[in-house]
Amino acid sequence: MTRIQGGCCCGAVRYEAEIEKAQTMACYCRDCQRATGAPLTAFVAVPKTALEQQGEAKGYSVQGESGRGVTRFFCAECGSQLYSKVEVAPGVLFVKLASLEPAAGEAALAPQVHIWTDSRPSWCPLPEGAVAFGKNPPPR
Ligand SMILES: [Zn+2]
Ligand SMILES: [Zn+2]
Repeated sequence: MTRIQGGCCCGAVRYEAEIEKAQTMACYCRDCQRATGAPLTAFVAVPKTALEQQGEAKGYSVQGESGRGVTRFFCAECGSQLYSKVEVAPGVLFVKLASLEPAAGEAALAPQVHIWTDSRPSWCPLPEGAVAFGKNPPPR
């Protein structure tokens, strides 16, 4: 069990969850890059029913590079990116690791896979031995 908690810059949106087994990834796709202004966005998968949220997050939907819908949620007040929902896994929220308090266990939540590394900038190195996919990972 891992307990996570976090939220946005201004405090309008807060959330916490208890997750059984942390599934984490880092994404370097152009949409994540544009939405966050960062070379990569790292997530932990949280079942929608497990997330206790205070405050309301606003969603913005796009067709991802894979052609599937992605909705990215953010605080309407301060613009902090919070979590994403993908069309192919509607019951899961991909909570952005950087929105969590470091107390959540920073090392335990290190990304297990790195995806869309085809658009990773050369100045943003992959960790040694990283499991990486140029685009979406193959279905498990
Ligand atoms: Zn906010
Ligand atoms: Zn992405």
